[in-house]
Amino acid sequence: MPNRYLIANWKMNLPPEGIGPFLGAMGQANVAVAPPYVYLKDVVAGAKQNILVGAQNCADQKSGAFTGEISADMLRDCGARFVIVGHSERRNIYGEDDALIARKLAMVIEAGLIPVLCIGENQQQRDGGHATAFCSDQLRAAAVPQLEKASEVVIAYEPIWAIGTGRNATGEMVAEIAMAIRVALSIFWPAGVARRAPVLYGGSVTPDNVDDLVAHGEIDGFLVGGASLDSKKFLALAEAMKR
Ligand code: PEP
Repeated sequence: MPNRYLIANWKMNLPPEGIGPFLGAMGQANVAVAPPYVYLKDVVAGAKQNILVGAQNCADQKSGAFTGEISADMLRDCGARFVIVGHSERRNIYGEDDALIARKLAMVIEAGLIPVLCIGENQQQRDGGHATAFCSDQLRAAAVPQLEKASEVVIAYEPIWAIGTGRNATGEMVAEIAMAIRVALSIFWPAGVARRAPVLYGGSVTPDNVDDLVAHGEIDGFLVGGASLDSKKFLALAEAMKR
């Protein structure tokens, strides 16, 4: 597996050991970290070249009267290099729909940042045999004109039933969806960006289950929540990706 993207999504947490010790513990590992907005500059200041820093969310507008929002341009000015958009917690807890997420995707591309677009089915959709169709639909809904000028867009397959539940998808399940994602990208997205798009998996990835996902998942990396709060566990994932 190319050690391209191992992204820590700290959500509304910080690692218990603190930002500095966490970043120090990463050593030379090529990883990416998405802290809460207000710690972005601290993480940028403390991160060496091998650590890519990004944000967990952004506004769907460029500027203006949008109280409480933060634009992709502002995140770039703080040193962010990527932005997660469409995380299922944004979709399900805060009611973000495909149209809003498409606008955020466009903003991130226009700011010159790398979007990490999250997609994934819920338990009912999987049980009904609709997982691949649902993920394809989410990609079609995200086919914004700005993709023509995007240098890279990362896709994170994050089945909702696996996020923060301790129930991860198996390598075989991930491989099936990863293939469907690549097909959908080739149909709905401009050829250049579709061909280059790394596909990640996220959902209860830990050092205990990562080997199966690396060996059989047909993916280019991971988006990690819970295990990214512990530098030892997160580093173990980076090591596993080299195997
Ligand atoms: C996530 O929230 O992006 C995620 C994958 O979380 P966890 O690893 O805790 O399931």
